[in-house]
Amino acid sequence: APRIPLLEFREVDVFYGPIQALRGVSLQVGEGETVCLIGANGAGKSTLLMSIFGQPRAAAGQILFRGQDITHKSSHFVASSGIAQSPEGRRVFPDMNVEENLLMGTIPIGLAHADEDMQRMFELFPRLKERRNQRAMTLSGGEQQMLAIARALMSRPKLLLLDEPSLGLAPIVVKQIFQILRDLAEGGMTIFLVEQNANHALKLSDRGYVMANGQIRLSGSGAELLGNEEVRNAYLGGH
Ligand code: ATP
Repeated sequence: APRIPLLEFREVDVFYGPIQALRGVSLQVGEGETVCLIGANGAGKSTLLMSIFGQPRAAAGQILFRGQDITHKSSHFVASSGIAQSPEGRRVFPDMNVEENLLMGTIPIGLAHADEDMQRMFELFPRLKERRNQRAMTLSGGEQQMLAIARALMSRPKLLLLDEPSLGLAPIVVKQIFQILRDLAEGGMTIFLVEQNANHALKLSDRGYVMANGQIRLSGSGAELLGNEEVRNAYLGGH
């Protein structure tokens, strides 16, 4: 029998009032996989990620995590069951320092592993260690992105969701962030990321989905999609 995917969408519809943002979306993320979702502005990528936490709620279809239907569960329940998100716009708590932000990430699981996990984050992100007492609002964009990812990891997630980790960052910083994601993936983390930077995302990912107008238009391995003419023309600048 096929293994149960870690995350699965089955024919999910989401509406904002009269506007349909997701149209019969089906996708799967297997344990240990890195999967990306690419698409233009307004395609519905952020909506898809947010619907995992029930905000906005699916009007039809099912969202399953480890085979369990989480479609109608609270965001608190979803976070406690092992899904963590680094939100779009690298939202950190601006007035808190780096350590305090990391501690906020433990909320779904409590403080039992906090010291040990914070040390692990400082090994993964040495830049954050140097700045552990610095207020988050004074960090550079790249450092804030690292902090948002590290904070998500502090809940020991089974699935890490990332919304546009490259947004607004200089190319060299984007490279650093993607190298960290590659290290995490090689360490066994399951990653589902939303990106407009299709080139980086597809190179990192085992598989990808292409979204347009709230629908999944294409799917395939990262390499297949990188070579796909439609993807090249629409999302890779035709190179
Ligand atoms: P971007 O890359 O620009 O963030 P996206 O692919 O993440 O785009 P969404 O943000 O999911 O797209 O938006 C999908 C559609 O839903 C868009 O048409 C958007 O205008 C609409 N939408 C998003 N949030 C809301 C909201 N709170 N109320 C009404 N419509 C919304």
